[in-house]
Amino acid sequence: MRITDVEAIWLRIPSFTEPCEWGEDAFIVRVHTDTGIIGIGESDSSPAVLKALVETPSSHSTSRGLRDILLGENPLEISRLWHKMYEESSYMGRRGAGIHAISAIDIALWDIASQHYGVPIHTLLGGKLRDTIPAYGTMIPKDTPTETAEAVTELLAAGFSSFKLGGGLFGLDPEHDQRIVHAARNAAGDDAKIAVDLVYRWKNYRYAKTQVDRLHEYNLNWIEEPLPSDDHDGLRRLAETSRTRITGGEGLTTVAEFTDFIKNTRPDIIQPDITRCGGISEMRRIHEVATQHSTELVPHGFSTGILMAATVQFLASIPGGNLIEFSQSTSALYQDLVTNPITLENGAVRVRNEPGLGVQLDEDLISKYRVEMSLG
Ligand code: MG
Repeated sequence: MRITDVEAIWLRIPSFTEPCEWGEDAFIVRVHTDTGIIGIGESDSSPAVLKALVETPSSHSTSRGLRDILLGENPLEISRLWHKMYEESSYMGRRGAGIHAISAIDIALWDIASQHYGVPIHTLLGGKLRDTIPAYGTMIPKDTPTETAEAVTELLAAGFSSFKLGGGLFGLDPEHDQRIVHAARNAAGDDAKIAVDLVYRWKNYRYAKTQVDRLHEYNLNWIEEPLPSDDHDGLRRLAETSRTRITGGEGLTTVAEFTDFIKNTRPDIIQPDITRCGGISEMRRIHEVATQHSTELVPHGFSTGILMAATVQFLASIPGGNLIEFSQSTSALYQDLVTNPITLENGAVRVRNEPGLGVQLDEDLISKYRVEMSLG
């Protein structure tokens, strides 16, 4: 079996002058083989940058385009190809976008292997440990407490008993934040699990510690990314002094970066994104390190149904894989790119048992939103 093409697809709904808020653009890959099997993957990153990393002609032995690296290779040799991509793109890769692009391809390779062997991906990963995975809903809080309470009521009605608030105005004004969390707790009741996401907005340890203490009375499930990921000292002091769990890591890549992050900041939970951290292969290695350091893993996931399908297969195969993020995005790419998406049933998602990721893509939607720009 040989790889015959790596198709890098950039999808974008709004014009280039409009920003994307949550999921209005996407980067997906299709890895084609000489047997007719096609693997699908994605990365939640900057599509234009990732498309260039795949398509660029090779410069020299450690600055090679990912497509160049893979053409003619056996797609079933996933681990060897992961390290080949890592090494031969290391001058412009090694972390960040270079690993994001490898993540998309790695997911596609697992899709191919699973179809080829005729067993689910979770079987290739060592076996399924659960049939369903509880989900938590992620929402951007509304600008007022009243509207936020209404949105929370809708989430509960949809079946969630666990949810997360982040983005919008949240994290900019402590008084406002407290009113929003107060309204959410009142609407949800004492039993619901509520987390908050600061997206780095608390800036330094002293300020963050004051806010963590202020929100203690609301019994939050966790406080996510209170400080920048590179502020290891601040994050460690916060983790050591906070009575609420501290989480982070959705922007980190590779087991090397996660190992430093875990050892230096002592988070309660890490949140690697399977489409960014290095794909299914690297996610497994990151999970091993987390397990050895008393750290839970709850993946970040806020993109299309491809990400969701890959995350479900991974979580089904690991001990403790019992919480998945479920986006509330209304983007057409989130809702319609995959025509057979994994849906919420009684606050959980079901683990699929067919070979491959099992996602079918809406080709009309791809044609409609595809950005036709190519390096070669
Ligand atoms: Mg987050």
